[in-house]
Amino acid sequence: MSAQLRVLIAGAGLGGLTLARSLRGHGIDVAVFERDASPWDRPQGYRLHLDADAINAAREVLPDDLRAVFEATAQYTEPFTTILAPDLSVIKRLPTHDEHGDVWPGHDGTAVHANVDRATLRQILLAGLDDAVHFGRTLERYESTAEGVTAFFADGSTAHGDVLVGADGIRSAVRRQRAPYCETVDAGITAIYGRLPMATAEPLVPAETLKDIFTVATDERKVFLGLGSVRFATSPTEAAERHAPGIPMRHQDDYVVCIVGGRHEFFAGGDSDTVSDTDPAPASAPDPASASDTGRTARARSGEELREIAARTLQDWPAGAAGLVRRADPASFFLVEMRTSVPAALDTPVNVTLLGDAIHAMTPTLGRGANIAMRDGVLLGRELAKAADGRTSLAEALTAYEREMTAYGFSVVREAARTGEQRMAQNPLPEQR
Ligand SMILES: Cc1cc2nc3c(=O)[nH]c(=O)nc-3n(C[C@H](O)[C@H](O)[C@H](O)COP(=O)(O)OP(=O)(O)OC[C@H]3O[C@@H](n4cnc5c(N)ncnc54)[C@H](O)[C@@H]3O)c2cc1C
Repeated sequence: MSAQLRVLIAGAGLGGLTLARSLRGHGIDVAVFERDASPWDRPQGYRLHLDADAINAAREVLPDDLRAVFEATAQYTEPFTTILAPDLSVIKRLPTHDEHGDVWPGHDGTAVHANVDRATLRQILLAGLDDAVHFGRTLERYESTAEGVTAFFADGSTAHGDVLVGADGIRSAVRRQRAPYCETVDAGITAIYGRLPMATAEPLVPAETLKDIFTVATDERKVFLGLGSVRFATSPTEAAERHAPGIPMRHQDDYVVCIVGGRHEFFAGGDSDTVSDTDPAPASAPDPASASDTGRTARARSGEELREIAARTLQDWPAGAAGLVRRADPASFFLVEMRTSVPAALDTPVNVTLLGDAIHAMTPTLGRGANIAMRDGVLLGRELAKAADGRTSLAEALTAYEREMTAYGFSVVREAARTGEQRMAQNPLPEQR
């Protein structure tokens, strides 16, 4: 392990854990501080679309046994996003590469796409990091000097390192201090998420839902119903037993996630006027640990009520759509009010930086936020490795990382906002007004 550098990471989400694994691989001393009391403190949400950014990141940072679990559990999809009519018939399949070579959703690298289960991916990233990840440690503030950084936690404890990375999500405490001028704003969109067991969904959804990246129907209000599958190539527990015996892995069955979303006003039945942006974690529902926030008032609503609000939003559609939503597991529902970062220039780093949603949160229109967070983790890991072995200074490593990360990160924030405007009437970004 390198004695030259000790890295503190606030937040054990997908971005922070990817960085931690990368640093481990480079032999760098790392400590991760996570607000949640344990990995199982709150459910972590459902399906995630991964593209080349996240898939390459996972392949780079995971040791062989965990990489095998990742590959065995991923549902590699066909490279299409499919547009449905409100009666759920297929209108067209949009290839991720068009005839000009452009990709949708836009990303770097090859057109490889996987649907994975978020909790399963997080367990894979966490496996074997028990000595490095400290749960129940909420970072409140830090002090940075030329000698290093001291992090202060809500429980009164502190930690000292050479560099602090804020991977603490959209409401980042590190960003508040490091870059208070970087704002997030309301995107104007409410979305209600739930999930259907595969056996329930399979007879009701088009075949494309089960093999493409995502299928989505929209009406003239730009209210949408999105459907995406998670079909484990091998079940997570079986994959762990086979490739990495002994790692903690919870059982999961195949499922289809359903999302009903649109402008806040179409969810009036959900008292959207009183739904404010808050910390995630509704009482009754999974927290997507996300680029968006879960409404405080909705937190008090039962999953059954949210399911009914979602179904009623589709009441003018052919009955199949609302019927499908009503077949979803009532306990699975949660509500998200979407927010987005506003692109900004970061000032010169000293020994504190940011990654993932902490700096470039985006609306989930492209399914790219986790991909970019994981790409950040790999990039920052590589730059810190150069500083650890003396190929560059820490300041130069962080400057190089931030230059590249803000260029691609904010460009995807803008693209997600543009796509969100066209497809679901998302508020324009302030700079685009
Ligand atoms: C419903 C939904 C669906 C999505 N689908 C996709 C998709 O298909 N594909 C995709 O690429 N992206 C998707 N996203 C976006 C994706 O979830 C996020 O971009 C991604 O989780 C960001 O990762 P992160 O590590 O930066 O932050 P997070 O995952 O938010 O992790 C931050 C961590 O920091 C912890 N934390 C917070 N504050 C503190 C503190 N003060 N001290 C210590 N720890 C703290 C939190 O508990 C959390 O564990 C979706 C988002 C939503 C809402």
